[in-house]
Amino acid sequence: MKFAMSYSVSPVATIHTPFKEKFAIPRQPGLARAALGQVELLSPYDQDGAFNGLEQSSHIWLIFLFHKAMPDGNQAPRLLVRPPRLGGNQKVGVFATRSTHRPNAIGQSLVKLEAIDGTHLTVSGVDLLDGTPILDIKPYVPYSDCLPDAWNQLASDAPEPTDVQWTPEALEQARQHQDRLHQPVVELVNQCLSQDPKPAYQVPAPDRIYGVRLWDINVQWRYPTPASILVQAVDPTDS
Ligand code: SAM
Repeated sequence: MKFAMSYSVSPVATIHTPFKEKFAIPRQPGLARAALGQVELLSPYDQDGAFNGLEQSSHIWLIFLFHKAMPDGNQAPRLLVRPPRLGGNQKVGVFATRSTHRPNAIGQSLVKLEAIDGTHLTVSGVDLLDGTPILDIKPYVPYSDCLPDAWNQLASDAPEPTDVQWTPEALEQARQHQDRLHQPVVELVNQCLSQDPKPAYQVPAPDRIYGVRLWDINVQWRYPTPASILVQAVDPTDS
């Protein structure tokens, strides 16, 4: 039996996003274009010049740590996972999936580079929790990274969007927070909820309330039918 050597890495940056909890974050990047993130270089990498030339790329790879899904070193490695896409009841090998639960808790997301400002980047289409440690940043290279004839039978097509409606009160609340935060609240809620965040195997009771924290607000919704969402309230969070 061969054991791997161990290496130590430290984050080069952190990312600020609207997502204060894992629930309702899109399951892959690019699914919610209104999901903006601010990448902030950390010391000793926060120096002018680190991003020189990056303005020539439209998209970048973020290599990051799933810091809220770190493996427990005292337990045997978990090599079989149940991807939500497969209904949550079929087990496959972790390396066949993009599961957050993986041996080194490393993730990768391709995001759009919107702006560069010194040691900060603005990116869109993120699927990352606020405060996620970024281990590396690399430019997307279309001639190599874009493979038109590639396939993946476990994740062949993007999920069908779920219909999202709003009560007039919730929409008005969201617009007020939008003006206060200068953030695309309505658009982001629409894009995240149309991915239907609840587990695929769950049949929601029509009066069951679901909720998620984005920025400093709490968004609440229910499922009048299993295939449709009604946003009911957009309130400030307590904290
Ligand atoms: N695109 C990445 C990849 O393929 O490696 C991430 C895919 S993973 C399925 C996306 C999910 O990870 C999000 O929906 C969210 O629930 C979760 N997530 C995002 N940031 C996280 C973090 N820092 N720690 C733990 N889970 C996180």
